[in-house]
Amino acid sequence: MSEHFDAIIVGAGQAGPPLAGRLTAAGQRVAIVERKLIGGTCVNNGCIPTKTLVASAHAAHLARRGGEYGVATGWISVDMVKVKDRKEGIVLADRKGVEDWLEGMDGCTVVRGHARFIDPHTLRVDDRELHADRIFLNVGGRAVVPDVPGLADVDYLTNVSILELDTLPTHLVIVGGSYIALEFAQMYRRFGAAVTVVERGPRLASREDEDVSATIKEILESEGIAIILGADDVRIAKTDNGFELTPRAGADPIVGSHLLMAVGRRPNTDDLGLEAAGVQTDARGYVVVDDALKTNVDHIWAMGDCNGKGAFTHTSYNDYEIVAANLLDDDPRRVSDRITTYALYIDPPLGRAGMTVGEVRASGRKALIGTRPMTRVGRAVEKGETQGFMQVVVDAETDQILGAAILGVGGDEAIHAILDVMSAKVPYTTLSRTMHIHPTVSELIPTMLQEMTPLD
Ligand SMILES: Cc1cc2nc3c(=O)[nH]c(=O)nc-3n(C[C@H](O)[C@H](O)[C@H](O)COP(=O)(O)OP(=O)(O)OC[C@H]3O[C@@H](n4cnc5c(N)ncnc54)[C@H](O)[C@@H]3O)c2cc1C
Repeated sequence: MSEHFDAIIVGAGQAGPPLAGRLTAAGQRVAIVERKLIGGTCVNNGCIPTKTLVASAHAAHLARRGGEYGVATGWISVDMVKVKDRKEGIVLADRKGVEDWLEGMDGCTVVRGHARFIDPHTLRVDDRELHADRIFLNVGGRAVVPDVPGLADVDYLTNVSILELDTLPTHLVIVGGSYIALEFAQMYRRFGAAVTVVERGPRLASREDEDVSATIKEILESEGIAIILGADDVRIAKTDNGFELTPRAGADPIVGSHLLMAVGRRPNTDDLGLEAAGVQTDARGYVVVDDALKTNVDHIWAMGDCNGKGAFTHTSYNDYEIVAANLLDDDPRRVSDRITTYALYIDPPLGRAGMTVGEVRASGRKALIGTRPMTRVGRAVEKGETQGFMQVVVDAETDQILGAAILGVGGDEAIHAILDVMSAKVPYTTLSRTMHIHPTVSELIPTMLQEMTPLD
């Protein structure tokens, strides 16, 4: 016999739990199904553990640089067991917070297990059959394991298993040169490991402008991270103490002790029985949704990483807000209303909003560009953290800000001043004429906007 609910949410990631909160508050009976850990990727093996480790790595880095600030320090050592304990404590507290909230939520049933559709309104979880009027998918994604010759013969790490390490690798080799790869690269270098990043393309963080990619590379190389680009034929061979990785034909092999594969993510939609519900996916397995996140099946929605509309915690949470607004508030919020924004948490971080300079150029519109190196940002100089630069592009005809990058100390926070002005759809002069607090990184944003020149 099947159990009936008003709504079933599959996956307790970043969108599912808050949606359960809104639906139950509206008097609905909701089942939320989770096959692994409540909180999903962000809480358990994504943002929260990595940013916790980035903070430990930053502490080690600053301690080593103590002399520059007149602070005497001795030999700096990193206790990986304590680093991991700190990370575990923060992750567990966060997961428990979401778990307790869901378990104590009136009208909400937490079901543990793997959910799979058996018909458009019914999911099977072990020996239970759950039936609902509406179904919301929040199944997230996982690391891609590429078809690399020799990979199956060695023990390799992903973003999940590397978080279990409590010892320092002698030489961590990371395949991939994007956000996840770069964050792990810098943190492990700062913990004391030798680190090599092996990227197939011609530059790191290839979604960014070339000057941003080049500066990221400089920042990482200045800390002793080896970077190999153009690794278009990676091959791996097991050795007695680890492995050898050859990045391309004819290149010298790199001898490593630990291998992290960080070459991208794929959606968890292959084992959900979507065909039994008639839900469409695209060629890469993402659930196809409209601008309000509804699938081709009228009573099924998809939120978060599994719909391919975003790959971040904030996009997943924003998806929840869009679904709740449309269903419960008679408020027609849309995915296309939001502005692309994210950060890369190397140190200094990169904060991004809107279009890149390359995208603006390719669009052919007339634009103005403003750039300022962090060496000319007083707060960065005072802090002794002057790597990077900030850049903004403005539409020369409408005066709207089109995009910005702040690669520098505080860039992940300061970018919001620009993002909010973009979101308000007001001219850039609203920001360039606002008095900001001295001394901050943000105070130079108005100055940068006052000194723009035409974009070639
Ligand atoms: C190393 C790393 C660092 C990151 N850092 C950041 C960052 O700094 N900032 C940022 O914004 N984003 C970051 N991200 C991305 C972010 O973690 C994800 O975008 C976000 O967690 C996606 O949330 P979600 O709600 O889509 O799904 P998830 O959080 O992945 O949750 C999906 C849940 O569904 C469950 N599930 C899947 N299939 C089933 C099924 N059939 N039955 C039952 N349950 C199922 C899974 O077990 C999982 O718990 C990072 C990711 C990684 C890997």
